[in-house]
Amino acid sequence: MAPRILSRRQALASGLVLPAASLIGCRTAPASLVVARPREVATLVDARPTVEGAGVKLRRALGGSALSMVDPFLLLDEFHSSRPDDYMAGFPSHPHRGFETVTYMLDGAVEHRDSLGNHGPLGPGSAQWMTAGHGIIHSEMPRQEHGPELWGFQLWVNLPAAKKLITPRYQDLDPTRIQQVTVDGVTVRVVAGEVRGTRGPVDAIVTAPTLLDVAIPAGARFDEPLPEAHSAFAYVFDGAVEVGARRTPVQAGQLAVLDGGATFAATSSRGGRLLLAAAMPIREPVARYGPFVMNTDAEIQQAIADFRSGRLVSQG
Ligand code: FE
Repeated sequence: MAPRILSRRQALASGLVLPAASLIGCRTAPASLVVARPREVATLVDARPTVEGAGVKLRRALGGSALSMVDPFLLLDEFHSSRPDDYMAGFPSHPHRGFETVTYMLDGAVEHRDSLGNHGPLGPGSAQWMTAGHGIIHSEMPRQEHGPELWGFQLWVNLPAAKKLITPRYQDLDPTRIQQVTVDGVTVRVVAGEVRGTRGPVDAIVTAPTLLDVAIPAGARFDEPLPEAHSAFAYVFDGAVEVGARRTPVQAGQLAVLDGGATFAATSSRGGRLLLAAAMPIREPVARYGPFVMNTDAEIQQAIADFRSGRLVSQG
C-alpha cells in the first residue's frame, strides 16, 4: 500500500489535526474542566523493505525516503523472519559516532561484540541502549539458538552537538530488568520512561526518552500521559490499533507520527501491539552518512578520517 504522507499544514487543512488552541478548552473554562487532549496522527507511513548490513532483509519505518526523521529519532528498522537466509549474514564489524542505537528483541537472539570489550547475546525480551558518542566499532550477528524466528527492532536516537563526542556507554538490559505493567487489561513493558509509577531501567539519556512495548487486547484502551514538549511516534508491529480521539486506524507495519498533546490514547477493536517512542527534540542541523550522524559535513569527513586512521574509538 502506498504510504499516505501528510504535512502538518495538509493535516490541518484536511481536518485530521485541529489547532491545539481549539482543543485545550475555551479560555474561560475552569481548570477542572480542561481535558488533556490526546495526540492525533499527523503523518502515517508504511515500513518499506530494505536490505542492510551484510544482506539482512528488514523493514524500515523511519530513516528512509518516506520519512527521514522524527527529531531526535533517526531510524527505526523491524527485522522479522523465520527464514535464516533473510538475516544470518548479520551486521559484521562496523563503526558508529554521534548518536545512540537501541536494540529491542522479541524473538531469536543477536550476538553482540564491541571495541570496548562488551560481548554477549541479546535474547527475547532484552534491550540494549548503546550511546556511541565519540565512537565505537561493533558487530551484531543473529543466532539461531531459539529456533528459526528472529524478531526485533533497531532504533537510532540522535545526540545534541554538545554530547556527540562523549565517552561511549552501554546499557544492557536482560528481560528481567524490563518491568511489565498492566493497566486496564493493556500490558506495557517499560524500557525507558515511566508508566503508572514504574520507571524503565534506561537512565541518564540526554533526550529523556520514553520507549514502551504496548499490547492492547481487543476492546481495550490505553491512555497515558506523554511529555507535551516531546516528539513522539507509534509503530504498530502486530494487529491494528486506532489512535487518538479521531481513532485513526494504524495497521501492523505502519508508523504514526503523533502531533502535540499531553497524552497518547489508543484503542484496538481486534488487538494490536506497538512501540511507543517519545523524546525531547534536539532542533539542530543533521549531517548523516551511513553509521555517522553529526551536525556538519566537515564533522562527517572527520569521522571517516578518524575511522580510517584508527582514532574513532580512542578518546584522544
Ligand atoms: Fe550497529
